[in-house]
Amino acid sequence: MRIDEIIAARRPTFSVEFFPPKTAEATEQLYATAQALSYLEPDFVSVTYGAGGGTRDGTVEITKSLKDDFGFETMAHLSCVGETTEGLGATLDLIAAAGIENVFALRGDPPRGEGDFVQVEGGLRSAAELAAFVSAGWDFAIGGACFPEVHPEAPDLETDLSYLKTKVDSGAGFLITQLFFDNQVYFDFVRAARRRGIEVPILAGVIPVASFAQTKRICDLCDATIPAPLEAAFEAAGGDPEREFELGIAYAAQQCAELLIAGAPGIHFYALNRAPATRAVLGALRASRPWERTRGDTGALTGSAD
Ligand SMILES: Cc1cc2nc3c(=O)[nH]c(=O)nc-3n(C[C@H](O)[C@H](O)[C@H](O)COP(=O)(O)OP(=O)(O)OC[C@H]3O[C@@H](n4cnc5c(N)ncnc54)[C@H](O)[C@@H]3O)c2cc1C
Repeated sequence: MRIDEIIAARRPTFSVEFFPPKTAEATEQLYATAQALSYLEPDFVSVTYGAGGGTRDGTVEITKSLKDDFGFETMAHLSCVGETTEGLGATLDLIAAAGIENVFALRGDPPRGEGDFVQVEGGLRSAAELAAFVSAGWDFAIGGACFPEVHPEAPDLETDLSYLKTKVDSGAGFLITQLFFDNQVYFDFVRAARRRGIEVPILAGVIPVASFAQTKRICDLCDATIPAPLEAAFEAAGGDPEREFELGIAYAAQQCAELLIAGAPGIHFYALNRAPATRAVLGALRASRPWERTRGDTGALTGSAD
């Protein structure tokens, strides 16, 4: 099923992001995670493409397996990095042939240490161009990334939002945010996007922290801010993995509950191919159903698909 139709029909949605594993052992781990999360019935799962210099070959294969073997609705990420339009077209044909109906259109980043993004000859230079390319030739539901704390290369929020509007006008029917910890950042961003005429649903990207050191590394890479009180609480855990894990899931559960009460249309979990933290948070949300306590005026957050 197309994710734009899922989001229109179900509120809220819960989705989980995986990355293609690099080893046979990591593949086993990913499938064990998928199995462990399946009873919580995520509305869809997505698989990244070449992120952080990781393997890109596995994206279509893993996405297809998660659909065929686990019954998940799936979305394949695709980026412009190092690709001509011919190469992108070939990958899109593979995705379509695998029966996958959803593509997450990204510009992407070069592998770590390789400097800034460079458009290859015969390639594309932005996610908006990729969304337009996909719309023109294939019948996928298209998603796009957005950055509540402003994309690191953008000079300011308004410039970033004007490019985001182009991405939506080029075919992105829903957006997923970069991870964030301070909900006010998301609320302000969504309102600013609505003022710019961006009406599509904006799913909130949340990472249930299982390891503080790992999360810090990820936040450094993607320029996401860890609020000082949260950082202090993790520091106070003194590197004890159990205390970090407990704090991480308690924080994420509370963060998601507040987002859902405020009317966020969905939560996208960055699960890092591990089940326990996401399972704990999603299980608690499914049990407590905070979205049923939604406040009256949630129009700005939910978007026009209501
Ligand atoms: C939910 C999510 C999933 C992700 N998955 C992956 C993945 O699978 N693989 C991966 O490699 N990376 C992934 N990323 C990271 C992403 O690729 C990087 O953040 C990348 O730097 C930006 O990609 P984008 O699609 O947002 O690019 P764009 O929307 O193209 O924006 C990139 C920058 O260019 C600016 N810009 C856009 N259009 C123009 C223009 N016409 N002229 C000048 N400036 C312009 C924007 O303001 C922004 O600063 C993901 C990010 C998120 C939030």
